Amino acid sequence: MQKITIAIDGFSSTGKSTVAKQLAKKLGYIYVDTGAMYRAVTLFTMQHDFITKEDFNVNALVEKLGDITITFKFNEVLGFAEVYLNGENIEREIRTLEVSSYVSKVAAIPEVRYQLVKQQQQMGKDKGVVMDGRDIGTVVFPYAELKLFMIASAEKRATRRFDELIGRGDEVSYEAVLKNVQERDYIDSHREDSPLRKADDAIEIDNSDLSLEEQFDKVLQLVDRTFEDLK
Ligand code: C5P
Repeated sequence: MQKITIAIDGFSSTGKSTVAKQLAKKLGYIYVDTGAMYRAVTLFTMQHDFITKEDFNVNALVEKLGDITITFKFNEVLGFAEVYLNGENIEREIRTLEVSSYVSKVAAIPEVRYQLVKQQQQMGKDKGVVMDGRDIGTVVFPYAELKLFMIASAEKRATRRFDELIGRGDEVSYEAVLKNVQERDYIDSHREDSPLRKADDAIEIDNSDLSLEEQFDKVLQLVDRTFEDLK
């Protein structure tokens, strides 16, 4: 069967990666979590003390961009590809609230976006890919055959992210998580380079009140329709 490109965009913690992983598994496609790539660059920025609460040395980061290699390696047990920064598995470190508090500032830098978008386009060049992020349907793959735009209330999203962080043993407050979700929404949708917005031809899915099963059923119908339309 013909392979397609599926672009999934939306605000933070709207469940993009959950649906993307389900879809990739079902279709036998590659799944690329582009948020993990921006988080990897952010971790590198933090490790080199280029960013603190008070300061962000953008020039120092841009000069060092050539030293960053991001790769994905499929983990058979987890059933998805984990992200590596210069050969080191950083899947766990990049999901902290601290990384989340800096990532949108790092992701707003055009040089960072240029490098990562280039790599993402390369990863999806043969189609058969499900990619999630903020600019996939608008910038990375504007010709994707299926584009989804996921939304849910900020409170629902913060609750999901809070449960996830608590579940893995992190000490965080719900208020701090909600604040981070709202801050990232604002920065991501107001930055100059590739702001988060729904592509004109994207299909919006509000999953505030949908179970995972209901959501997946809905998405699968859209996938079927896309294949039908291509016939
Ligand atoms: O998807 P996730 O929440 O892990 O993304 C982390 C951050 O990375 C986002 O808040 C956004 O600032 C940035 N990002 C982006 N473009 C993408 C994916 C993520 O700017 N395609």
